[in-house]
Amino acid sequence: MSKRIAMVTGGIGGLGTAICRALAAAGRTVIAVDLDSRADRLAAFRTEVNGLDIHFAAADVSDHASCGALVRGIEDTHGSLAILVNNAGITRDSTLRKMSRGQWDEVLDVNLGSAFNLCAHAIGPMQARGFGRVVNISSVSGQTGNFGQANYAAAKAGLLGFSMSLAREVAGKGITVNSVSPGYIETAMTAAMPAEVLARICASIPAGRIGQPGDIARTVAFLSHDDAGYITGANIPVNGGLFMAA
Ligand code: NAD
Repeated sequence: MSKRIAMVTGGIGGLGTAICRALAAAGRTVIAVDLDSRADRLAAFRTEVNGLDIHFAAADVSDHASCGALVRGIEDTHGSLAILVNNAGITRDSTLRKMSRGQWDEVLDVNLGSAFNLCAHAIGPMQARGFGRVVNISSVSGQTGNFGQANYAAAKAGLLGFSMSLAREVAGKGITVNSVSPGYIETAMTAAMPAEVLARICASIPAGRIGQPGDIARTVAFLSHDDAGYITGANIPVNGGLFMAA
């Protein structure tokens, strides 16, 4: 069987890079999709993944038409898209009273709209081929809410409902759709948080530490494995025990 093709959105970011590496290590051909506006980060990414079967494609995944062109371009260049990891995300934190309509729209469009945009274009061909793995990166904030994150928590909770609904629609066609909800992971996103806030959060994590990108990447590799075909519509929390639910 030829190598399965995987797309990782937000692929040059902190978690995205780790996910790309884990999927490449699992024998996938990986396409990291990200904005091409971050030249320094893109150059560093190319060095970090040098020699691996990881490629870069530029796209704004909040744009529906661009996502169609992206999926077609990847299928033309690399082959059938089998694994889609919707990982691109942004925060625009603010209490609701100060939140602008723009801050709301931007966060919903990137974190949730992108999953619709890409699944809308990728699911049909996956159904026709009878195989697919979709993994949506949500957040513990989508499970518990978070002060100053009404937009982000709404988008991440929306991803959970989106994943379960799509999972039901395509389960009979060999496609699984699951979510991963990271807690606090050591990336640029958490490095931007005030140190005292992060220290307080770490003290409340039962595992006693912040998570590492590899903790998320290994979970994505597991869910996207051919042998994980009976797991669908699930949300896997990877949060060191910060939030537990039956
Ligand atoms: P990051 O900022 O390092 O990476 C996000 C990537 O998404 C960036 O490379 C960015 O350029 C890309 N991106 C943003 N808008 C885009 C767009 N319109 N089109 C294409 N790419 C776009 O952040 P991260 O910490 O690696 O987070 C990855 C995902 O994990 C996000 O969805 C985030 O919400 C989620 N998450 C992260 C944490 C954490 O602790 N780091 C916790 C919970 C959830």
